[in-house]
Amino acid sequence: MSKIVYISNAAQVVTMKGHSEQPAKKERMSEVGMIEHGSVLIEDGVILAVGTDQDIRAEYSEKLENAEVIDATGKTVTPGLVDPHTHLVHAGTRENEYAMRLEGRSYMDIMNAGGGIHATTRATQKATSEELYEQSHRRLNKFLLHGVTTIEAKSGYGLTLEHELKQLRVAKELEGDHPIDIVSTFMGAHAVPMDEKENPEAFVDRVIDEMMPVVAEEKLAQFNDVFCERGVFTPDQSRRILEAGKKHGLIPKIHADEIEPYEGAELAAEVGAISADHLLKASDRGVEQMAEAGVVGVLLPGTAFFLMAEFADGRKMIDKGLPVALSTDQNPGSSPTISLPFIMNLGCLKMGMTPEEVLTATTINAAHAIGMEEKVGSLEVGKKGDVTIFDVPNYLTLSYQYGMNHVDTVVKEGKTLVRGGSLA
Ligand SMILES: [Zn+2]
Repeated sequence: MSKIVYISNAAQVVTMKGHSEQPAKKERMSEVGMIEHGSVLIEDGVILAVGTDQDIRAEYSEKLENAEVIDATGKTVTPGLVDPHTHLVHAGTRENEYAMRLEGRSYMDIMNAGGGIHATTRATQKATSEELYEQSHRRLNKFLLHGVTTIEAKSGYGLTLEHELKQLRVAKELEGDHPIDIVSTFMGAHAVPMDEKENPEAFVDRVIDEMMPVVAEEKLAQFNDVFCERGVFTPDQSRRILEAGKKHGLIPKIHADEIEPYEGAELAAEVGAISADHLLKASDRGVEQMAEAGVVGVLLPGTAFFLMAEFADGRKMIDKGLPVALSTDQNPGSSPTISLPFIMNLGCLKMGMTPEEVLTATTINAAHAIGMEEKVGSLEVGKKGDVTIFDVPNYLTLSYQYGMNHVDTVVKEGKTLVRGGSLA
């Protein structure tokens, strides 16, 4: 007998219906497919029906007889949230640098002096696989508690073949063990190691010739990412790395134009990246080229918030036709948070996005940014039964009340993992 889960009679069900083929752009980012007094029916982990509670009761009365009922009366139901950019697997924290920055030191200054990404790299290199697994597993549980059911996770704190593989293998193990879906990205080109500063080209060669073939061979990643930024990797080096990845079947992603305008957005369009992320300083031309090439813009306002920088102009990007997604950028240096709902608040308050747009950006557009749009990101028949229930009477409240966690229930492929705001 099949297992039926019946999420009943929510004040609002936000379905995100109709955006699975193409990421939502412009006005379509406001079409959230909301149903009042809505219900969701999941059969054996897959969505069987979504509609008004009245219709579901009428049409599926037989199936409902043995269903597990989750009463969502007075609450708001959304697709399980999707976080398309995290540095999940890492060791250590950097609160000491936070204190330095509060006294006026800059993020890049600290990094160039051997802190920043280098500090996390040292900690990650030192950590055993078991330690990384434990710490990352705890983070995944926190993601779940904040309504997230699918994430992307990058390597890039190993910076040697051995340690990059260690990070990616831990992510792969967690993908098997933890209910959250994890999509992996190889990011050997996250920083030039301190002892190779004098010869970055040789390090780029090692990323391409030594690391990439093994990552591809072991099928440890789907995507290939690079930190294209002045003082890190130049556009030419980034192009080499992304083009080399394509030859191994790794789809390009790029950390672009975060701190200075550096033609990262233009490069994303040129190499056909699935997404370009950050974009705080992206040029108008770069954004237009991305829109034309079908690149998703992943904005990470937690980073601007935490580094006390200017925010990306999400409003302008959406108006120019760029499909926008939002992410935490979860990492210990520039965005130590796992709260995607807080990122929604920032999207509205600091980047001029509407409550509808931030919902689209953290569900279906986020799924498009990591190639998961056919499986997750919307509540549609045949997709995974990934559902988040917020204890708020309407979706507007999600981006209105800030700094609090409204998640009541999280269902992943039909299994209740969070109940009453706690792990079930
Ligand atoms: Zn990042």
